[in-house]
Formats: sequence, C-alpha cells, structure tokens
Amino acid sequence: MSALNASAADKPRTALVIHGGAGTIERSALAAADEQAIRADLERALDAGNAVLSGGGAALDAVQAVIEVLEDSPRFNAGKGAVFNAVGGHELDASIMEGHTRRAGAVAGVTTVRHPVQLARAVMEHSSHVMLAGAGAEAFADTRPEIERVANDWFDTDVRRRQLEKAQAAEQARASTGVPAIPGGYFGTVGAVALDARGHIAAATSTGGMTNKRWGRIGDSPVIGAGTWADERCGVSGTGWGEFYIRNAVAHDICARVAYRGDSLDTAAGTVVNRVVPAAGGDGGAIALDAEGNIAMPFNTSGMYRGWIRPDGSRGVAIFRD
Ligand code: ASP
Repeated sequence: MSALNASAADKPRTALVIHGGAGTIERSALAAADEQAIRADLERALDAGNAVLSGGGAALDAVQAVIEVLEDSPRFNAGKGAVFNAVGGHELDASIMEGHTRRAGAVAGVTTVRHPVQLARAVMEHSSHVMLAGAGAEAFADTRPEIERVANDWFDTDVRRRQLEKAQAAEQARASTGVPAIPGGYFGTVGAVALDARGHIAAATSTGGMTNKRWGRIGDSPVIGAGTWADERCGVSGTGWGEFYIRNAVAHDICARVAYRGDSLDTAAGTVVNRVVPAAGGDGGAIALDAEGNIAMPFNTSGMYRGWIRPDGSRGVAIFRD
C-alpha cells in the first residue's frame, strides 16, 4: 500500500446528518432572507457537530452540540421558536441515544428548560430512567445546576403565534361543518445523527411538537424507537406527524430493516418514509446514517430542512427536492 493510500485508509471516517424539520415548505412562500437565515443556521449547526467529531469527540457530544444550536434559533420548532399548544403555551419534547451502549434519555412536556436535549442527556446519565415527563422532569431539572431555565414565554415568537391563530380558526371552521379536526401542522423539529472516529453512532431529536396540540400531548420525538434510535450499525431522527411515527416505530423500523433484512440504509429509510408512513395516513421525513458513513434523508412532504457532512468531507444543506 502506498503512503498516500495508507494515510487515506487511516483517516477516521466521521459523518454527520441533521434536519430542521419536514413539512409543507413551499419555495414560493419562503422569502429569500428567511431561506438564507435558515441555511446559515443549518451551517452553524453542522460546524458545531463537526468541531466535536473532527477533534476526535464522541458522536453523543456532536449530536447534542448540533441540537443546542438549533434549539437556540427562533427559526426552528425546538427551544426558542417552539410552536404553541392549544392553550397558548409551549411543551417541549427531546431525546438522545447512544448506539453502541444503547443508553438513552428523554424528556416530554417540559416548559422551562432552554435546551431540552441537555435535560434528556442528564436523564440518561444521572438518573436510572430513560424518560421523564412534565412536573417530574422539571423537578429533576431542579436537581441539575447545569440545566439553564427560562420562563415559558421566553420560547414565544410572533410567527408561531400567528400559526396558532390560523390553526385555531381552521379548527373552528371545521367544527362548524362537522369535519373532524386534524392537527395544525408541523414545521421545524430538529434532529441529528453522527458517526464518530471510533465508529460509534448517536442520534438526538428536539421539538415543540405540533401547533395547537392538546395540552399534555406527547409526540414521537421523545419516544425512543419512534422519533429517535441508534444502535451499533444505524441511527435515525424523524420529523413528521408524530402519532404515525409512534404507531409505526419509524426510527427503529428503519434500523431493524438494516439489521434483520440486510437492506441498504437508503432502501430501509426510503421504504419506511415513502411507503409505510403514507400508507398509514401520515407524512414527514427522517435522517439516517450507518456505520459506513452512508447517509439517507428521505421525506414525503414538499421540503425538509437538512444538512450533511460525508466521510469524504463533502458537505451541503438543502430544503427542497433539489
Ligand atoms: N414529530 C413532531 C411531533 O409530532 C413534529 C415535527 O416533526 O415537526 O411532535
């Protein structure tokens, strides 16, 4: 083997894939300035994850770093900028999972935690549980000084308030015609999956859920196996109509197809997102990554905010089917 080949073979193969949510994202409705800002946020999130991975850090730290950047951006439905529930508040869900150890942590319905992904990780590392919800999760956060707290209205943005008003007006119109209400749509849940230099995979997802969701509703994002999954070979973060992701164990199903059927990552993720979820009546997308650094980013909606860095260093961000 030549010196050149040897050094190429020795180079650690890291990879990163992120999403900022799938949904009805129309090119004509997205102002150029907003598109630019969203792309810049996705690039910053990739940089944060890549800084961890290229420094030899763990996939678990990389996905948390990505999610924290996106949670702080008001343009995504996670942390600051989270959607409103039906009673005008924010309830945040998040989860994180490390593949080779199968450790996982999740929080649901938290209301005062600036970075729900950080609390999910604390549940994983500092409790004997996988998931804490509502008041119990808040009480656990009280015991962890590193968890930054904010008032619930800190998550407010005008854009999300207008989305709530629109969803509630549509709901009322449907009620008067007797047509059953469907949830008010979703945009901007965030997720990340990383492969580190040791060959370990981790995945994480964070969300405000769905606009006008019923108080107490928990979606797929904090449910391990539904919105987030990582094992030795494969990791997934989902985004979409959460009830269908829970009922079809979407994140786990993708990795199970890789493990048990020997499907390629592309085939497994594509089948679940483009066949299984729509056949059940749902929609959305997912990002997936395997131990070879292959990346899949299928979605059955008009767009999905996404970004990637492949093992060869090539990177990109995209929104539409381009
Ligand atoms: N899956 C999330 C939920 O149902 C929403 C989203 O992906 O935007 O809570």
